Amino acid sequence: RMFNELQELKGSIRVYCRIRPFLPGQAAKHTTVEYIGEHGELAVVNPSKQGKDRRHNFKFNKIFGPESTQAEVYSDTQPLIRSVLDGYGVCIFAYGQTGSGKTYTMTGPNGASEEDWGVNYRALNDLFSISQNRRDSFLYEIQPNGLAVPDASMHPVTSTSDVLELIGVGLKNRAVGATAMNERSSRSHSVVSIHVRGKDLLSGAALHGNLHLVDLAGSERVDRSEATGDRLKEAQHINRSLSALGDVIFSLAQKNSHVPYRNSKLTQLLQSSLGGQAKTLMFVQLNPDVSSYSETISTLKFAERVS
Ligand code: ADP
Ligand code: MG
Repeated sequence: RMFNELQELKGSIRVYCRIRPFLPGQAAKHTTVEYIGEHGELAVVNPSKQGKDRRHNFKFNKIFGPESTQAEVYSDTQPLIRSVLDGYGVCIFAYGQTGSGKTYTMTGPNGASEEDWGVNYRALNDLFSISQNRRDSFLYEIQPNGLAVPDASMHPVTSTSDVLELIGVGLKNRAVGATAMNERSSRSHSVVSIHVRGKDLLSGAALHGNLHLVDLAGSERVDRSEATGDRLKEAQHINRSLSALGDVIFSLAQKNSHVPYRNSKLTQLLQSSLGGQAKTLMFVQLNPDVSSYSETISTLKFAERVS
């Protein structure tokens, strides 16, 4: 079954939609999500409209409703992680407006216990434990060049805690600015890239897999009247890089011969793991509240275009 699952995922782009629950203390609990089907169907309604404009239907590879657990979400992600050890490139993104649960899905809540761990921790644990079980000789090799981002660096690691330490350093360096929506929100992308070297135990051939775990900056449009100066420039920059990412994934999904990787640093950084034999998973995150209706629709339209 695992083999078939991997064959099916090969070279593919999957889109999973995750709807976060209402949070304790969140005031009016009016949801914009009308229907979640068993096969990835989603209906979102605009409560202020009647008739045919009221309801929008979408379809994704999978939908995780507000009750979904971190373990459930990861169990549908795990085959991709395993394929990294077989030498594939894998990119996992979380896309959505600030407060929609991107960081929750990728990392987990602040101070998470094991059961709340997000995709990152679970993936790292799997990579290290599977590689130890296979008794493969894993050699992490530092590549002196080839990083598309200035100041990015590569470090050898042998355990999840090694990686977590590095992520901690990265988070400290991450530019964070408070916004009206969520003071913990960050206006930057967070990318953790893991390069795996190994060898095929049957043929002895060298394998080189990599995994990119990407918590994207919030996709919300910034009101020109609220943002000025550096904040406005930063917002425009983020919007440009998110649309460049959308264009790349769209071109890949369309199997276009030209893929516009060069339009942003983000897509240049991920180029070797986007397209070809690589596998892409996009978590599309939604806040169910009606007040988020227009951001929800624009998030879903982005996702629909790339899936
Ligand atoms: P983002 O990274 O998209 O800005 P967060 O991941 O920080 O959003 O989520 C916003 C808030 O919602 C946080 O308090 C987070 O713990 C909570 N949250 C998000 N998703 C879930 C979920 N599936 N279950 C419970 N709480 C969630
Ligand atoms: Mg976040």
